[in-house]
Amino acid sequence: VTGARVGIDIGGTKTQAVVLDDEGGIAAEAKVPTGFGAEGVIASVRDVLALLSMPDAGIGTVGVGIPGAVDPARGRVTHAVNLGLADLALGDAVAALAGAPVTVENDVNAAALGAFHLLGYGPDRSLAYLNLGTGMAAGIVLDGRLRRGAWGAAGEVGHIAVDPEGVLCSCGQRGCLETLGSGSAVARQWPQGGDHPVRSLFEAAAAGDALAIGVRRRLIDTVASAVRVLVLTVDVDDVVLGGGIASLGDRLLDPLRDALRDAESTSPFLASLGIPDRVRILPSKRRVAAVGAALAGTAPKSP
Ligand SMILES: [Zn+2]
Repeated sequence: VTGARVGIDIGGTKTQAVVLDDEGGIAAEAKVPTGFGAEGVIASVRDVLALLSMPDAGIGTVGVGIPGAVDPARGRVTHAVNLGLADLALGDAVAALAGAPVTVENDVNAAALGAFHLLGYGPDRSLAYLNLGTGMAAGIVLDGRLRRGAWGAAGEVGHIAVDPEGVLCSCGQRGCLETLGSGSAVARQWPQGGDHPVRSLFEAAAAGDALAIGVRRRLIDTVASAVRVLVLTVDVDDVVLGGGIASLGDRLLDPLRDALRDAESTSPFLASLGIPDRVRILPSKRRVAAVGAALAGTAPKSP
């Protein structure tokens, strides 16, 4: 295929696009606000493609990352509630705009591929990208290839239910990891945090607020559980944290490593796995999903 690799990340508030150069670097980029509903989303893709400065060779392939349930083989997206999409043949719509073959991928899976590439992992390495945003979900790259799973559910660790008495989750189960280890979980337990509940929570906890310390404790312990689930199921080299909560940086990573070490203190088995040293935070999450979407557009198809 000649022509440029284009990646588009359709997020809840903005749609970001990149053009990759031959080495996988970013040759051009653009972003626009994301519209609502099928027409709004497709208009955002049209607008962001119009803003991108294209190389002379034109568009070779397009990859699109989007939240929701994605059928990559058919390019359909369903249940993207925040975008107002019930069921959309997004791949066909984007292909008509771009005049090039299109691959549609779940946004967290796209970000996992982008993180793998941007962090410079070699083809024989593996990582889990744990996205801590409004929800909790992971994308898994094994030996350099995205692992979607037989039904596309690989990495959906946020919906592992661990507490039958826990609060009702958006998925219909009770006590999912996401009900304690996500931005929505913090907003529910720390309503005084307003528009930036996680930042507010960590500031209040640092100032000694007992309630905030408890909510932060549950958040950290739950993220630690998700990290252990990922290591104990697929034993990836590293678990890379991304999403809004990960932008806390060391304020998240330091207590998370402490929690992982606490669990090791009574378990020689866990201690033998070195999990605290296998957790890292994505240094720059800004374009990771768009870059990953561009790579998904050209990656060999895997199950
Ligand atoms: Zn759930």
